[in-house]
Amino acid sequence: MSRTMNFSAGPAALPLPALERARDELLDFAGTGMSVMEQSHRGADYEKVHDEAIALTRGLLGVPDTHDVLFLQGGASAFFALLPMNLLEKGRSADYVLTGVWGEKAWGEARHTANLLGAQVHVAADTGTGDGKAKTWTRVAVAADLKQRDPSAAYLHFTTNETIHGVQFGVDPARPFPDSGKVPLVADMSSDFLWRKFDVSRFGLVYAGAQKNIGPSGVVMVIVRKELVAAGRKDIPKIFQLRTHAENKSLYNTPPTFGIYMVRNVLAWLQGIGGLDAIEARNRTKAAKLYAAIDGGPGVFRCSVERESRSLMNVVFRLPTEADEERFAKEAKKLGMIGLKGHRSVGGIRVSLYNAVEPAWVDALVGFMGEFARKG
Ligand SMILES: *Cc1c(COP(=O)(O)O)cnc(C)c1O
Repeated sequence: MSRTMNFSAGPAALPLPALERARDELLDFAGTGMSVMEQSHRGADYEKVHDEAIALTRGLLGVPDTHDVLFLQGGASAFFALLPMNLLEKGRSADYVLTGVWGEKAWGEARHTANLLGAQVHVAADTGTGDGKAKTWTRVAVAADLKQRDPSAAYLHFTTNETIHGVQFGVDPARPFPDSGKVPLVADMSSDFLWRKFDVSRFGLVYAGAQKNIGPSGVVMVIVRKELVAAGRKDIPKIFQLRTHAENKSLYNTPPTFGIYMVRNVLAWLQGIGGLDAIEARNRTKAAKLYAAIDGGPGVFRCSVERESRSLMNVVFRLPTEADEERFAKEAKKLGMIGLKGHRSVGGIRVSLYNAVEPAWVDALVGFMGEFARKG
């Protein structure tokens, strides 16, 4: 059986060894005579997996003791609402930095929630140009964009990698926010999680839907400063309070056990190949090859994202016409490469280069792009 070269944005490719491990353990997990899906989340065998997933996250990222690691459900989209629900209160405001559609969605949900709470949300920066459906984003925010910040905001939210527009904050995603000592930084890292190190202590909270880079859909990982958990609202339903999940190690109710098990497999694989330094180097090489193919070709491929903001996770580009893009995706598919169509809202081509995307797949794609450009 040959693996499809899957460049999808999410749910995305998973590392083959993590899938093989799941296959090998499927019918008889740890000698229990059952799959892990069939086990009680209170049982010792499952709990070991759960603890290992948390420990691997802590180890890989160097999560300090000041922060909790949580597994939640409902996707990053549910967290758009849970975040302000926990951290906003009457008379307070939260700042949102918009560098793409996901940030805008997070802000929209926060606006709804703030209305219910008598609180406010405020756009501290928006790097988009144009209006309505024609609005586009081609760069992240820099310190100069942030003149409108509220120094007493409950938090400042931004999206470290905009999955649809291929716009990513660079080496240190917290750098544009140097004076955020008092205002906790909150980041949606859904498509930017666990491929590079970052200084977790600079963030009040980061969250990520697993289906982009660390597992199947159905799991959201949250890393949150314990002080923020403690300061969160207590008058919202218990199930929506971060405190409930922090106090119960994300075992207050039944967690998505099989999803967390898969996250464990993915992170164990990541650790085994050398951790984040190794995967970052591998991902940088993949992205460099692809951008070189875009920029170095005879002008058939065009990436409009500003150089410093170019994403290493989701590479977007255009061809001369939409018909060319159709043909490009169709011919690539014949060669076993899928998931290359841009998000339906923006069109074009999008190549997602998450951890599980093999360097050989990128070589195959780059080879195909060369052929395609030559043939016209
Ligand atoms: C995919 C994605 C989301 C939405 O995730 P769901 O799990 O579908 O809710 C949010 N933010 C970013 C940056 C994403 O890439």
